[in-house]
Amino acid sequence: MSREKKQQALPTASHYSSLFPTYQPFEAYFWMSDGLSHVVLNAPTVGAFDQALAFYCSVGFQIVTDAKDSEESIMGRLTWLSMFSDGDKRDLTIRLKLNPASSPKEVVSNDVDYTLEDIVLVIATSNLQKIEQVLNDSSKHCQKHEIQSDDKKDVSREIYTVDPLGNVIAFTNKASPFSSSLLDSYHVRHEGIPPTIELASRHVGQKKKIGVLTSGGDAPGMNACVRAVVRYGITKGCDIFAIYEGYQGLVDGGSFIKKMEWKDVRGWLAVGGTSIGTARCMPFKTREGRLQAANNLISNGIDALIVCGGDGSLTGADVFRSEWPGLLKELKESGKVSQEECDKYQHLTIVGLVGSIDNDMSSTDITIGAVTSLHRICESVDSISSTALSHSRAFVVEVMGRHCGWLALMAGIATGADFVFIPERPPSEDDWEQVMCDVAQRHRHLGKRKTVIIVAEGAIDKNLNAIKAEYIKDILTDKLGLDTRVTTLGHTQRGGSPAAYDRILATIQSVEAVEAVLRATPDSPSPLIGTSNNQITCRPLMKAVELTHAVAEAISQKNFARAMELRDPQFADEYDSYIASTIIDDQTMRLPEHQQMRIAILHVGAPAGGMNAATRTIVRYALNRGHTPLGVFNGFPGLLRGTIEELTWLSVDGWTSRGGSELGTNRSQPDVDMGMVAYQMQKHCIQGLILIGGFEAYSALLALEKARDKYPSLRIPLCQIPATVSNNVPGTDFSLGTDTSLNAIIDACDAIVQSARSSRRRVFVVEVQGGKTGYLAVEAGLASGANTIYIPEEGISLARLQADVQHLIDLYNDDDAEKSEGRIILRTESVSKTYTTDVICNILQDEGHHIFDSRTAVLGHIQQGGTPSPMDRIRATRLAVKSVEFVELHASAAFTEAHDSGKCQPIELTHSKESASVIGIMGTDVKFTPIDDLLGETDMKNRKSKKAWWYEHRPLVDLLSGRGLFASREQDERENRKE
Ligand code: ADP
Repeated sequence: MSREKKQQALPTASHYSSLFPTYQPFEAYFWMSDGLSHVVLNAPTVGAFDQALAFYCSVGFQIVTDAKDSEESIMGRLTWLSMFSDGDKRDLTIRLKLNPASSPKEVVSNDVDYTLEDIVLVIATSNLQKIEQVLNDSSKHCQKHEIQSDDKKDVSREIYTVDPLGNVIAFTNKASPFSSSLLDSYHVRHEGIPPTIELASRHVGQKKKIGVLTSGGDAPGMNACVRAVVRYGITKGCDIFAIYEGYQGLVDGGSFIKKMEWKDVRGWLAVGGTSIGTARCMPFKTREGRLQAANNLISNGIDALIVCGGDGSLTGADVFRSEWPGLLKELKESGKVSQEECDKYQHLTIVGLVGSIDNDMSSTDITIGAVTSLHRICESVDSISSTALSHSRAFVVEVMGRHCGWLALMAGIATGADFVFIPERPPSEDDWEQVMCDVAQRHRHLGKRKTVIIVAEGAIDKNLNAIKAEYIKDILTDKLGLDTRVTTLGHTQRGGSPAAYDRILATIQSVEAVEAVLRATPDSPSPLIGTSNNQITCRPLMKAVELTHAVAEAISQKNFARAMELRDPQFADEYDSYIASTIIDDQTMRLPEHQQMRIAILHVGAPAGGMNAATRTIVRYALNRGHTPLGVFNGFPGLLRGTIEELTWLSVDGWTSRGGSELGTNRSQPDVDMGMVAYQMQKHCIQGLILIGGFEAYSALLALEKARDKYPSLRIPLCQIPATVSNNVPGTDFSLGTDTSLNAIIDACDAIVQSARSSRRRVFVVEVQGGKTGYLAVEAGLASGANTIYIPEEGISLARLQADVQHLIDLYNDDDAEKSEGRIILRTESVSKTYTTDVICNILQDEGHHIFDSRTAVLGHIQQGGTPSPMDRIRATRLAVKSVEFVELHASAAFTEAHDSGKCQPIELTHSKESASVIGIMGTDVKFTPIDDLLGETDMKNRKSKKAWWYEHRPLVDLLSGRGLFASREQDERENRKE
């Protein structure tokens, strides 16, 4: 073949335009190919090669390289074509080769069913219309298939065509071949939650230099903050400086201020405390000190500061910002900064993040570190409980919290403590000692062998006198003769690896902090990044500091109602739940006899952390109200057999901290024998039914609701408390068990990464549960710093795998030569039947070319967790109290009449849809949503909710693991060269 022939110019876009008048490059979202890392297409002739090239370019491929002179192209022509995804320059790739040795394919006739032919390529695109238009315009014969999905709204469509080489290729608008979700509707579905993060979209304008510091008391999660600020900042094109030792480092300057690189924060997610140090700094409280700090910022070129600390640190930050113009002027006058610097650094941007274990900051529902601290407290109290039980002792446990009782109250709820003392709600009685003793005594009379009392370090009585642990001990010893010990938990509460919740909270808040820096204008007040209603908020910092001080002020003025009001709305609700469910009542909560009911509790589906805690609370609250709580053992089969028992106050003691399901649970549904279900309900006089479980419980509730027409005994209040690790139940943001599961996953991932880091360069493909929902993978991915995740909402493609392998190679090549490094990829179990965990592992192993190796880790039932996490226990308590209230609400009218007619069985309720509901957590509220109203947002086929608030976290997983890093570096280099 002649040299000229080989160097023949490649077709250009205009060449295609002439062939295909409607040709324009357009975007698709996913591409799937059924082959290897790229698809090889052989053209037997030059003519066929050209036609194929033109065809693939017309449907959206672009020429990446042509290897005219390479060895491979010795026969003539070789072209690599790629379809690109948004943030990633590697996706579906075709290697089009002129290969005269290949035999021409038989032409597929126009009238055969293409779906039955061998399909070489499946391309999933949200832009099917465009494809259709291109194919029609190029008069390519194409076949269409339309498949109506279950809910009749979504139409999944496929278009088949034959390329000039005779290969059948398919285009689809399905998210993946195995899913019924559509790309179009998928995007619509998530429209309400615009991803806040654009992958690697860099800040345009002057390069920001951001300083980050941690100050005041250390809190678990501060490292996750620094990591996210550094990494997100870098992808946004900023320079990030860590300021070591808090404000002291700012005042001292020099080596305390260090520019951070991507790799500097590797592994920080799992580390407790703060790796850049914190200090209490007296000089910063003086103007002199702040003047020095300002000078250091300017000399390092830093024009924005992100401060992570408690209210003291944030007060300091606000003072600093308000003084900035004066400080600048003084520095200019003393000749320490030039006029040019003065002009350049006229405005200092400060953004606050609240790192505090006390959860004592107003304007945010929760602070970074508080949940981890609660973990430590609950672990300690759980351990103390077993020794207390063995010796029949009383323990008084003192926890941190000067003006804030959050830790003490939440620990009280989560461990089922007998009594708690908090600063915001001192005992209302003068003789609180006697009240406490009465409560402990009542519990002991019921047969309880242990007494646990939790005291916040700032606890007071209503006259503002401190209530100290030692004093309580003396009372219990003297008045009740109990063998009582005091445990002051002290600094153990600060320590340890952050819980999943704190890692996620710190990460998403810090990303928002960087965004807030980039958004800031000279006139905007310094913001504080917080969380309200499960949403990230950005509110004026000074206002938050003022409100926080107002709590202490209100307490000092004995205005306790105001102090409670200033806490987040959940706080008062949780306090009431605690009282209602833990302390055996002295009959004051009891309902009149005719309103007392028989309420059954039944567990459905797989066990999830918090099921037992919810059951315990239902039992105790129901007893306080005068109801009869009934436990149905072993789910619906148990109900069919009539295995139903009354549960007593003592029988559920200790259930708060127990994992699994004490009642027994399974996946059986009521419709196997609805008649028998109805019969047993009638026989046992069940007047309200609370189901605790996941999607199986949801389906069961639906079936029971439908059967009400036929069976009067089902016309009673029916409700579900969502409990499943998958978090796929419609009508709630969180199911019980998800938090426990996330913690179990991150503990496992931390151990896996540590093992790999000690020995070799290894990638673990970790399989997590979740059914058809990617919640666990997304959130655990964020909390464990996973390299990437594979979730059912997106599917897996070879192209994606290829890109991921390349990214791992880039990362390992970038690592220090001597260092081993472990990385993890999370894969939801049901994401693909083809790309199993083993297949992915093998691909990584082979394609890693000895740069790294690969192993699998299938976490399986470990993910249900041993002991439920404090968050799950607290959520369980709250939902359980509300579920009893729900039953009372929907039964009261009917029971008035039932009582009058002297019958035990309820008379017919109205068929109100409200009386069959899911009890869910929406933001910070608990809401009852009729199951009827939830059907529209239920994807029955995939057993999940169509809403997925957590999906907005998805892009962060890839971004913070380094996706876009190399592109970002290249851009930096280009910019530097330009300068
Ligand atoms: P926390 O941030 O955990 O509440 P502190 O109250 O000890 O902890 O504050 C931490 C640091 O913040 C202090 O050591 C000091 O450097 C700085 N700071 C606190 N209050 C002020 C203030 N009013 N003015 C200037 N700096 C302050």
